[in-house]
Amino acid sequence: MLKIYEAENQFDAQLVLDKLLSADLEAVMKGQFLSGAIGELPTAGLITVWLVHPDDESKGQIIVEEFESHKRHTNPPQKCPGCSEIIEGNFILCWNCGDELPEIAKSF
Ligand SMILES: [Zn+2]
Repeated sequence: MLKIYEAENQFDAQLVLDKLLSADLEAVMKGQFLSGAIGELPTAGLITVWLVHPDDESKGQIIVEEFESHKRHTNPPQKCPGCSEIIEGNFILCWNCGDELPEIAKSF
């Protein structure tokens, strides 16, 4: 067994696991049952994804890197300047009032 990914949350871990499995790599998730028991504490590093066959490391690493870079390019939710509605990332217009949203990419 080889640890390939430490997830910030179970959602991310599940996504990585699905990608590995769909690439025909044998993988398992560990630590997902801990998150409920410790309540509000941060779970970073507790939820991990493991490759069953260490030989798959290079393939698995590519999948994990792809996932991470995709994650970085997703915009965080933003607040509409017109109506204060919270809009999920990657939208240009507010779905509530139709206002144009500030382009957060410019602020980086
Ligand atoms: Zn709005």
